[in-house]
Amino acid sequence: MLNIVIFGAPGSGKGTQSDLIKEKYGLFHISTGDVLRSEIKNGTELGKIAEGYISKGQLVPDQLIIDMLASVLDANKGVKGVIFDGFPRTIAQAVALDEMLKARETAVSGVVALEVEENELIQRLLKRGEISGRSDDNMETIKSRLDVYNNQTSPLIDHYKASGKYIGIQGMGSIDDIFGRISQAIDKL
Ligand code: ADP
Repeated sequence: MLNIVIFGAPGSGKGTQSDLIKEKYGLFHISTGDVLRSEIKNGTELGKIAEGYISKGQLVPDQLIIDMLASVLDANKGVKGVIFDGFPRTIAQAVALDEMLKARETAVSGVVALEVEENELIQRLLKRGEISGRSDDNMETIKSRLDVYNNQTSPLIDHYKASGKYIGIQGMGSIDDIFGRISQAIDKL
């Protein structure tokens, strides 16, 4: 299986590039953010709990996310590979992902990390907020999401560098140029 983690700060372009990767390589795309937003829309128990965290720009507790991901994987057996978008976001989630994949006799193939300057991230998220109407794309929540990223998620960079899986991709420029860089990296896996 080809299992790609797409990694980066909020606004780094993970969703946009995931759609392109999914098409080109025939992978199954799991966006934890999209799954959570659909749980909220459907008014499920998980959605009700997640809503409070998301609107404050905080992370939903690890165990809820890990269980949610396991059930999505179990409901989609037999896929060629998976692109994990928005997961893992903490070291505990990364450890759980390794265990989950090992139990399914597979592993993370590579971590595609989109590297984008913070000023650019803020501009992109504010612009997205005008169009998407996402409750978390406003200045106050964006600031806490970036803090959460810097404190809880960015330690994963060293974690994946240590295992040799980190692939840094320059994430500024046109969508096509960035996708070209990603494709070159995936083709080498
Ligand atoms: P972005 O990458 O733009 O921050 P996402 O759609 O991936 O947006 O996530 C939106 C929100 O959903 C996050 O701010 C967080 O509250 C919650 N969330 C998504 N994935 C996770 C995760 N792996 N662990 C905890 N919370 C998550």
